[in-house]
Parts: sequence; structure tokens; C-alpha cells
Amino acid sequence: MKLFNTLTRKKEVFTPLDGSTARIYTCGPTVYGTPSIGNMRAYIFTDILKKSLEYIGFDINDIINTTDVGHLQSDADEGEDKIEVAARKANLDPMQIAKQYTDEFLRDCAKLNIRHPKILAPASKYVPQMIEHVSGLEKKGFTYQISDGVYFDASLFPKYYELSGKKEQKGDKAGARIKMGEKKNQNDFALWKITKPTALQKWDSPWGVGCPGWHIECSAIARHHFGDTFDIHTGGIDHIPIHHTNEIAQTQALTNKPVAQFWIHNEFVKVDGKKMSKSLGNVYTIPQLEEMGFNPLAYRYFALGTHYRTIINFTFEALKGAQTGYDNLVRELVRHKTSLINALIAIDFDEYRKRFHDAISDDLNTPRALALVWELVKNGPNKEIYDLIIEFDSVLSLSLEEAINKEIAKSNVKIPSLVTKIANARMDAKKAKDFKTADKLREEIKTLGYEIIDTKDGYEITKI
Ligand code: AMP
Ligand code: ZN
Repeated sequence: MKLFNTLTRKKEVFTPLDGSTARIYTCGPTVYGTPSIGNMRAYIFTDILKKSLEYIGFDINDIINTTDVGHLQSDADEGEDKIEVAARKANLDPMQIAKQYTDEFLRDCAKLNIRHPKILAPASKYVPQMIEHVSGLEKKGFTYQISDGVYFDASLFPKYYELSGKKEQKGDKAGARIKMGEKKNQNDFALWKITKPTALQKWDSPWGVGCPGWHIECSAIARHHFGDTFDIHTGGIDHIPIHHTNEIAQTQALTNKPVAQFWIHNEFVKVDGKKMSKSLGNVYTIPQLEEMGFNPLAYRYFALGTHYRTIINFTFEALKGAQTGYDNLVRELVRHKTSLINALIAIDFDEYRKRFHDAISDDLNTPRALALVWELVKNGPNKEIYDLIIEFDSVLSLSLEEAINKEIAKSNVKIPSLVTKIANARMDAKKAKDFKTADKLREEIKTLGYEIIDTKDGYEITKI
């Protein structure tokens, strides 16, 4: 398995440190809002990484944290805590906000077939470990305290630019134009922030009542579960120059050991060629795509069509294309599964297996893996083709078997004309925005033993 390591800027052969289990830490979402389709790409990528490693024969031990404290509005220790801002706005407790959006994140993961990690780690549960980490750094002389908190002195860590590969900037020293406050160097970052008395989330510490800095949470959680050095750390590319750079600095300064053998980063999702942002109104979520009639797995299929280190340009046209591609794939597989003839074909299945293995082992080349599936599916009909593609789906996780069985069940069901009549009446009610009647008619259909599902082209009826 070759993976691109941001640390060395090369594809390198990956083997777990203990020879068998890959220990993977993924920076989780800041749980103050519904995750965007961009956020979810980061977790589709790590899911493919883990399932590819398993397909090749390694075991996985994984952590995803949830940032429920400490992530300020700017990544560089400025502004207010994002959770706290959301809590005040909704007039709720920060932990209620964190729970609501952690649940939403997990719900979207389930819809996208992103497996639940072995350890889901809410940052607020690890404050003692964070305090211990900062105390350790303090003892080693890497910290200094100013009025608003305890800071890491980045000038004392010579490898500060190793991950980003950036050159030391002129403005990195005190006195530069940027907002330095009392900081000594531009790169110095908060390990512990003293909070205002009105803060909703705060803990006692040797440095005063406050809350942990954002970066320290991942360092403390990873070290608590995985020890000083583990296998792979992942996140989006925005994390390279600040969050992950700071994580490496503060852990390596303490332990004198590398944090992770591999640092792997996914590229961003853009919308119509532009950065996703609230001000442009182009931050889409999985529930929104569903409301428009798309299957969340069409989004997964769409994401897998681009290599994880390439920018995805999201457009609804492209997503429609992916939905059609996914539906067509399911239809082709129905043909392989249900055909009464098993065509005699000269296919070397082991060769295809090897090519799939090679594609995912080449830095998770999912576009190549999908192309291979399409090459294979065009043959036949043949049951072995079906079986092999279902085997590949243990990595791709497109729920192909389930979708195929649903499709077969649908074609076997004869919908009574009464049900179709009510469904049409419901559609008319919906068009007339008479949602009360539409809901009533949906219930009527249900009592007859059928379920109506809205799709982008209209509706589908299935037997309950
Ligand atoms: P956050 O909740 O902002 O901490 O982000 C959660 C994860 O999503 C991080 O790994 C980010 O790097 C990643 N991420 C944020 N925005 C995007 C995007 N537009 N495309 C892909 N990944 C993203
Ligand atoms: Zn992190």
C-alpha cells in the first residue's frame, strides 16, 4: 500500500508500526452546525483509507474526535469559541449544541456508509489530559504565559515548518503587522486560554480558569489512546499549516518522538468553482441533497470519482450525473444477479482482483477502482461478476447488494391501482402546496401497506 505522506511529500509504502494494526487518528468536526458536504468528503476519504487497508489485510484501530470546545472563530486563536457562539444564539447549553450536531454528524456518516470509529472522542472529556500535556511542556520550557493564556513558543521548535514545507516568513517574529497581542512570535499558539467570567465552558487549571486551545485537544486525545507515536493522522488540507503543524510541535516538543508516521490530507470540495462559504450561500449539506431527491450514496459515488488529493468541483449537474451513474450500476448488477443465463465469458477474475488491489494500493485511486467496476460490469450477465463487484463494495461501500435487492423487490411488486390513484392525488395536493392533504394521503397509502418515497423526478411506491 502506497500512500502520499504530506510530511515527506512523497508516496511511500505503508506498514503499521506493529506490523498488523493501523492506528489512525482523524480530526473530527467542530460540532456547532450541520456538517457540509465538504466536511463529509474528509470522512469519506478516511473511510476509504481504512477499508482499503482492511481489504489488503491490516486491522484498524481508529479515533475521530469531536471538537466541542476550544475552536475559536479563526484557526489562529482569535474570536469566540464556535460552540459558545452557537449556544448563545440558540439559547442552549454548549453541551446541548455539541450533542445535537454530533448526532447530526453521526447520522450523515451512517447515510454515507462511513463506519463509526472504535473511539469517538469528545474533546471536553479529555481536559485533564490536555492540562497534563501543557504542564509537561511548561516543565520543558516551551511555554510562556501572557494575560489571555498560556502559549507555545514556536521559535523553540526548529522543525516548525517540516509539515507545511513553508519557508520561515519575515513576519513570523514579533513586531510584524499581524495581530500579535502580547505573543512573542507570529506562530506561537494558545495551549490554554483564560476565559471571561461569563464564558459558558470553563475549567480550573494551574494557569487560571479557562479552556484548552484547539490544537492541544487532538494531541492529548491521540497520545492518551495511541501513545507517543502512531500510524496515520488525517484531515483536510486546511489543517496542514496551522492545526497539524501545531499538533506536531507541541507533541514532539514533549516526547522527542515523531507523532505519526504518515500525515494524509484530503483536498477541498468547491461549489461551482468557488469556495464554500456562508456568505455565498453555497454550503450544502447531506439532508439538503436528500430533500432534493438525491440518494446520499450518490454523493459518496460522486466523491469516489475524484482522487482524494484533487479538488472536487461540486455542481448539481455533476451530482445528477453521479446519481444516474449509481442507478445504472445497480441496474446492471440486477441483470447479473437475476439473469437466467450465465454467459460463458473469458474473464480472468484474479486479474481483476489484482487490478482492484493495485488501484486502491496506489494512494487510494478510487476513480481507477470505479472504472474497473464499470469495465467488469459491461460483460456477462454472469454471477461471478456480481460476486466480485460485491466483494469490491466492501471497500467502496455503496450498499450495492442492498440497492440491488430493493430494485428486484420493486420489480416484483404489483402496485394496486387504488394506491397509484391516491399517490397521484397526493402529488396534485403537493403541487397545490396543500401539504395537510398530501400528508393525509401518504398515511392512507401506508394503511394499505405501501410507502411513498419522493424522488427528484416524482415519487416511488414500495411495499412496506
Ligand atoms: P471542521 O468542522 O471545520 O473542523 O472540519 C472538519 C473536517 O472537514 C476537517 O478535516 C476539514 O479539513 C474538512 N473540511 C472543511 N471544509 C472542507 C471542504 N470544503 N472540503 C473538504 N474538506 C473540508
Ligand atoms: Zn485535530
